[in-house]
Amino acid sequence: MQSFNEIWKKAVVKMGEYLSGVSLNLWIKNLTPIEINKDSAILYIADSFQRDIIVSRYSDTIKNALSEVLGFDIELIIYSEEDKPSNIVFKEPQKEENSLIPEKLMPATKTDVEYTFDNFIVGNSNRFAHAAAVAVASNPATAYNPLFIYGGSGLGKTHLLYSIQNTIRNSFPHFKLIYIKGDEFTNELVAAIKTATTMEFRNKYRNADLLLIDDVQFIGGRESTQEEFFHTFNALYEAKKQIVLVSDRPPKEIQLLDDRLRTRFEWGLIADIQTPDYELRIAILQKKAELMKITLPPDVVQYIANRLKNNIRQLEGALKKTLAYYLLTGTPPSIAIAQSAIKDVLNENEPIPVTIDRVITEVGRYFNINPENIKGKKRTSDITNARQICMYIIREITQMSLPAIGEEFSNRDHSTVHHSINKVEEKINNNISFKSAINDLIANIKGK
Ligand code: ADP
Ligand code: MG
Repeated sequence: MQSFNEIWKKAVVKMGEYLSGVSLNLWIKNLTPIEINKDSAILYIADSFQRDIIVSRYSDTIKNALSEVLGFDIELIIYSEEDKPSNIVFKEPQKEENSLIPEKLMPATKTDVEYTFDNFIVGNSNRFAHAAAVAVASNPATAYNPLFIYGGSGLGKTHLLYSIQNTIRNSFPHFKLIYIKGDEFTNELVAAIKTATTMEFRNKYRNADLLLIDDVQFIGGRESTQEEFFHTFNALYEAKKQIVLVSDRPPKEIQLLDDRLRTRFEWGLIADIQTPDYELRIAILQKKAELMKITLPPDVVQYIANRLKNNIRQLEGALKKTLAYYLLTGTPPSIAIAQSAIKDVLNENEPIPVTIDRVITEVGRYFNINPENIKGKKRTSDITNARQICMYIIREITQMSLPAIGEEFSNRDHSTVHHSINKVEEKINNNISFKSAINDLIANIKGK
């Protein structure tokens, strides 16, 4: 059985992966876990000043760590001596025997579950991609090179990529394996250029025996990344090293991708993953329920499978929520519980501030411009351009008022926002590739 204390300890370990030892010791370790229920985790720290700092700087980190350990999302409440309610006992950490969650029922967290071929469930929609991945993992650089897998969000692409990596790591322990996401490749390259370490960067990638690039669509539109990647690709290909690429769309639909890369991406085998059919959705739910050691009545399985059709991550999410209700309230899975779990999963619409940040980050990444500059006052043409696009996309996605959008960008007034949006609209109407780049950005932002 697990108490909140133990859950908290695990969460602190998780936070150790993101925070420095100093932050951890100075702030996080001063928190005392008090109580947890299905909606919120309550923590305590005597000093209200310290509490305010923790809330402003670390809320998200704490919430993320807790939800990783628990397998579902939870709100955070931190009381200080000044504002603690009198009906809860503070200071004393919860006793171990006040256990809350049976240990063996704890949902497995992402880091615990390895992505392997063994736990990848095959159906019509992913059979081809799975077979291609298995072939490449068994015969690297002889079967298909490169292997290019594409498909929508939450359909198992990253799972397959990791499975290839894990299999090859076992059968070829001496191989140098590199797994990287397209945008991290870009960031690393930019950093290498800044610190004059491009030689090291090159050596690292060009000496790999297996290069796996996830979400490779993000290198579209980035000149220096594509140039560097082109040479990396050639070096590996000529040395007969396996390359596996994953993307949310086929090569020909990746915006602003150099032709020479596009053709290379198409040299080997291209495999797509489609949305799962009913049988696969049922099979996945049953298998995952079994792994979580939860018994789901058949009508509940069918109910979930009939409602979540396009995304396996969401199927899993609904299942975890159903389990969470069970663990925290003792209510066994039923259609009513599943219904509310599905609603939670589908309503995970983020609050508007998160969306704004995401727009600015995505657009910044696309044009290689620092988000601070986009929000700030500089008016060089590339920054202005990115800023106008952000305003346009925010208006599209959130329907926020023009003055409210202006406020997000160093208090610009509504006429500036109006002018910006008009500019972008004009360009969209006159330039097809600009139009599709913007649609693409919007799809990416919404799809996250
Ligand atoms: P993508 O990279 O395509 O967005 P992921 O590989 O991250 O998707 O998959 C999302 C979640 O769904 C993961 O937890 C993954 O394990 C699970 N998943 C996807 N497809 C399958 C499958 N065929 N069998 C088992 N789990 C799957
Ligand atoms: Mg992925």
